[in-house]
Amino acid sequence: MQIHASQLNSRPQVLVIDDSPDVHRLLSARLRSEDLDLIPAESGRAGLDIAEKNPPSVVLLDLDMPEMDGFEVLRRLKDSPTLNNIPVIVLSGLQSPHDKVTAFDLGAMDYICKPFDLTELRVRIRAAVRLSNLLLMLSQRAQIDGLTGLYNRAHFDHRWREEVARARRKRRPLALAGIDCDHFKSINDNYGHPAGDAVLQGLAAILQRACRETDLPCRYGGEEFFLIMPDTTPDQALAVCERVRTMVQDVVWPRHPDRGLTVSIGLVGCAEVGAVNAQSWVEDADKNLYAAKQQGRNRVVMTELPSGGVRLADAG
Ligand code: GH3
Ligand code: MG
Ligand code: MG
Repeated sequence: MQIHASQLNSRPQVLVIDDSPDVHRLLSARLRSEDLDLIPAESGRAGLDIAEKNPPSVVLLDLDMPEMDGFEVLRRLKDSPTLNNIPVIVLSGLQSPHDKVTAFDLGAMDYICKPFDLTELRVRIRAAVRLSNLLLMLSQRAQIDGLTGLYNRAHFDHRWREEVARARRKRRPLALAGIDCDHFKSINDNYGHPAGDAVLQGLAAILQRACRETDLPCRYGGEEFFLIMPDTTPDQALAVCERVRTMVQDVVWPRHPDRGLTVSIGLVGCAEVGAVNAQSWVEDADKNLYAAKQQGRNRVVMTELPSGGVRLADAG
């Protein structure tokens, strides 16, 4: 599940998809005192467009609408990887058990018949908002590494593909660095596992400090990190990596002040991304990281992908 900025608003947004202007008027008058924003949409298509641009916390959905009916809207919401977790409350004049069963089978969380009781609608919306917040919190946690607070590998895999696609579309520069702590095992062996953990947390803090807001440091696994640098030329990326390398080298670690640490970095940059393969870009960064280790550690090894088109044969 992707998280959209609109979902982090403190005030929940409730998207109301209903072809009747009367329903919109009634709801906005009667739910005014609730701590939420109502977003009106008067057709299924309009509702889906709004949801895609600005995923709401909850959807209130009418079933009987011209052109695209509510069942179809529900089907599309549940088919979308970015929208399928949004709780949907059906608000419908259709009262038959068959319609209710169909709506629940399609993934509705609740079903309220028109004419509805406003007090009941209010508490059901509150329950749906609570569920939406919990789901959002869970999905955020699932993408964050518990030790360092950085994004984890699952998030990296997803974001990297996205950033490569975006850079390709816009013909922008992009860089990826793989960063691995040198002789990290000996920290665990000599000073204990908690000291090793503290080093990983320190490295994460350095990565966050050394890069820009738009850069994305992730913990890939163990003591290996990846840093995605969108809109960053190879030269600029090299400067960031050198900054990380020297910052780490200069740290005095409280648990072992006489034992410093270094990192090796494998960097692959491209000045103008064309037809590249996201997966082989990661593999190239790994190869450069391995080369940095081979050449004596505490160094950055960089290669540049040619601008425009490379690896057309296996582009993906
Ligand atoms: P190199 O310079 O070749 O990278 O050597 P290294 O010792 O850093 O690499 P190696 O892959 O041999 O060892 C990595 C160690 O990282 C082994 C593993 O026990 C440790 N490790 C992995 N995850 C964690 C963690 O979360 N906390 C701690 N303390 N150690 C971890
Ligand atoms: Mg290592
Ligand atoms: Mg390693």
